[in-house]
Amino acid sequence: MKSDIIIIGGGASGMAAAICAARQGASVLILERMPRAGKKLLATGNGKCNYTNRWMNGECYHSQKPSVVKTILHRFDEKAVEDFFMELGILPKEKDGYVYPNSMQAASVLDALRFELERLHVTILTDTDVQNIKTKGKGFQVISERETFHCRRLILACGGKASEKLGSNGSGYGLAENLGHSVISVVPALTGLKAKERVYKALTGIRSEASVSLFIDGKMVDAHRGEVQLADYGISGIPVFQLSGQAAYGLLYGRKVVCMLDFFPDWTKEQLVQFLRDRKNHFQGRPGEVFETGLLNRKLIHECIKLAGGQGSRLPKMEYLAEICKHFPATIIESRGFAQAQVCAGGVDLAEIRPENCESLIHPGLYIIGELLDADGICGGYNLQWAWATGCLAGSAAGKECHASYRTD
Ligand SMILES: Cc1cc2nc3c(=O)[nH]c(=O)nc-3n(C[C@H](O)[C@H](O)[C@H](O)COP(=O)(O)OP(=O)(O)OC[C@H]3O[C@@H](n4cnc5c(N)ncnc54)[C@H](O)[C@@H]3O)c2cc1C
Repeated sequence: MKSDIIIIGGGASGMAAAICAARQGASVLILERMPRAGKKLLATGNGKCNYTNRWMNGECYHSQKPSVVKTILHRFDEKAVEDFFMELGILPKEKDGYVYPNSMQAASVLDALRFELERLHVTILTDTDVQNIKTKGKGFQVISERETFHCRRLILACGGKASEKLGSNGSGYGLAENLGHSVISVVPALTGLKAKERVYKALTGIRSEASVSLFIDGKMVDAHRGEVQLADYGISGIPVFQLSGQAAYGLLYGRKVVCMLDFFPDWTKEQLVQFLRDRKNHFQGRPGEVFETGLLNRKLIHECIKLAGGQGSRLPKMEYLAEICKHFPATIIESRGFAQAQVCAGGVDLAEIRPENCESLIHPGLYIIGELLDADGICGGYNLQWAWATGCLAGSAAGKECHASYRTD
């Protein structure tokens, strides 16, 4: 089977690329290993699809090549993404910068993409797992178990290996490596972290506002604030997700990784000590549980008191209690892994692609897009923004190139 352009992977970036390429008049074939395209998209944003963010900044991404990330996001920014979807009929709804479809349904984003793919006569072959790629003359041979396909331009849009049950199983890294690309070590990101301390078993199910600071070999590298979820295995919630990729790299390189939770992030330690001393005096002679009530989640403050040296109704020194409330440790032993992660950090080295259009610098005519590349965003629509931006830039360029090469071939 022959097409101008083959796209391996019918996820967010692959569908965006297909639309942009087909709009240039190219014939486009998407090969997707799952029984349907866009399965992961339906799970995004808790089924609401947070598809971009109005506060866009290169700092919201991690990569070995931040300048390439910035160039790509500058060439196809959040406004371009909103316009792309407006044209498909998706009205945006913004909440604190996070952009969702007005329907608050991820299914409408997938439907809108699907309708446009149909209108442009893009073919999608599902249940087609690509196993190998060979270069042939000016084109490519794309080999699946059942069939070999031929194309003039090839777009790799296989995603990473986070949440394999939704499709992306890491095979894209091998395909890129076979074509001569280098892959920067891949670790899970946007996921929970497992902690060594046994106290977390007693705290499972508690949610509390906190600031979480990440220390690697004793040096603070990042901090985020928000609702932390405590679980039997350790810590989770958005502030933990934001740090999890850096924590996973620390573990990969054998470093000591510790998160410190501050349950009173608005107060200095001195202010908290003073407040706790006043509170202790106020409830002098009353049972310990009166002192505990209303400070933090009941189980949480109870464990803090125990860790600070309190026993039964005997309260610890208020200085020790303040210290533990502001530096509650989680010694990280493992991340929750790829299966529980929303994205992967690492991937194909951005030094090997053209920032204008994601074309490979190793194989002209090959484009690499989306999560397969070495760029991962924080929570808030940044990863889909990256998928749309790289997909649209590569799709438009590959589509135009096909046109130009027909004239010169
Ligand atoms: C639960 C969850 C919630 C998320 N929520 C958000 C959110 O709200 N906002 C946000 O910005 N990001 C979110 N993300 C991240 C976002 O979904 C991804 O970053 C994005 O989908 C990546 O797009 P992609 O096209 O690169 O890869 P994917 O969407 O993973 O698509 C890759 C596709 O390629 C296919 N494929 C892989 N290998 C092959 C092969 N060899 N042959 C054929 N097909 C293949 C896969 O089956 C898959 O369909 C979420 C992720 C998860 C798991």
